[in-house]
Amino acid sequence: MLLTISTTYQPATDLGFLLHKHPDRFQSVDLSIGKAHVFYPEATKDKTTVALLLDIDPIDMVRGKKKFSGKGFSLGQYVNDRPYAASSFMSVALSKAFSTAMNGTCTGKPELADVKMPFEIKITSLPAPRGGELLIRKLFEPLGYQITLERHILDDKFKEWGESKYFTLDLSNELTISKLLSHLYVLIPALDNDKHYYVSEAEIEKLLKKGKGWLEQHPEKELITRRYLINLGSLTRQALQRLSEHEDAETNTELDTKEDIKKETLHQKRLNLVLEQLKKTGAKKVLDMGCGEGKLLRMLLKEKQFSKIAGMDVSYSELTKAKDRLHWDEMAPKQQERIHLFQGALTYKDKRLEGYDAAAIVEVIEHLDENRLQSFERVVFEFAQPKTVIITTPNIEYNALFENMKTGDMRHTDHRFEWTRAQFETWAKGIAEKHNYSVEFEPIGEVNEQVGAPSQMGIFNHGN
Ligand code: SAH
Repeated sequence: MLLTISTTYQPATDLGFLLHKHPDRFQSVDLSIGKAHVFYPEATKDKTTVALLLDIDPIDMVRGKKKFSGKGFSLGQYVNDRPYAASSFMSVALSKAFSTAMNGTCTGKPELADVKMPFEIKITSLPAPRGGELLIRKLFEPLGYQITLERHILDDKFKEWGESKYFTLDLSNELTISKLLSHLYVLIPALDNDKHYYVSEAEIEKLLKKGKGWLEQHPEKELITRRYLINLGSLTRQALQRLSEHEDAETNTELDTKEDIKKETLHQKRLNLVLEQLKKTGAKKVLDMGCGEGKLLRMLLKEKQFSKIAGMDVSYSELTKAKDRLHWDEMAPKQQERIHLFQGALTYKDKRLEGYDAAAIVEVIEHLDENRLQSFERVVFEFAQPKTVIITTPNIEYNALFENMKTGDMRHTDHRFEWTRAQFETWAKGIAEKHNYSVEFEPIGEVNEQVGAPSQMGIFNHGN
């Protein structure tokens, strides 16, 4: 997969200064899977072209340190378009190779950073989803690009197989290098439907940062934001709200497509599984430790089985949100009696945590400093001692499947650690043994043969 950027700005070799990459040198940057190479096929005063070549090893995606899978069928692990198509890998490569230029800085010749130059860009194998050509035009034309598109057929030898979803895209425009790189950074993944991407709130920050100065006015800002954030409705809404403070982005009903619902399921799936387990235990009094804004509490309230439901969190503002979202003020007094919210920390012995049949601790332990885990263990399993304890936490092995994560990255800036399945299971078994619990494990989310599921759950039962 190749992307080239040419300019006829005089002298054209200034492109080397702008990109902080010398035209005479061949340079490479490491990506999570494979490498990106930067080189100049031509570098004359009249015309200079820089090329960014993605070198992704599909076998490495499965076999290497970082394990990837293709979707749907096992061969997909080996045969997929990632090495050949302009995907979100390209974005990552652009930001790694040309970060200074993307941020609008030119150290060698500072005055160049603000110069609008004529650029021609060629992207081979750009996958475009439904809408194909029209979608590509909708994204690039409002930004002033002239576009030539050539759609590839599936196979030259078998013309009857018809057209593929891949295009060669030629763009030309006159603008600053930083704008150009930011456009590509956002729009290439917005076109890619098949990305392995961990979308956290940090992605909103990246989008807003790279979109600054152009995305706010783009007529397709909703579409771009939604597609960039992989149709994740709630994140998209947050991003749109911040993009246009005056408009009420919440009213955009277009966002509530089926796709949004499908994509938004990992956390929902997790909560559904936790609820299912809690119901199975026959528990009546349940405690959600680290309840956050109370998503699980809302689900628990709907189940008659639970006569006493408590939510505890260290954060007062999360508890306030939970109270709002539960519409606590408007609840009938009988319902109000069922639910109890209180502030507390999972690392301090607390009488209020005693007397429950079951406790859920969903995506919380990874927010505790590792040296506090022993206190946590005693607070929950020795003092509070509910009959059932359900703990969920991310499976770090799965992070390898997220293109935008580097080795060692975690899913949230507040995570103090993320564990492999073996680490979690060893820790959990140790606790179970010490405190007379049994423990079983369940994956949460789609299971990948090599790296497991995105999240993991331990179900502890006291005394058996
Ligand atoms: N369980 C919720 C929220 C998970 S986010 C859900 O699944 O949606 C993690 C939550 O743990 C945050 O709300 C944070 O305030 C809370 N938390 C972090 N450290 C804590 C501690 N020491 N004691 C109690 N809650 C804590």
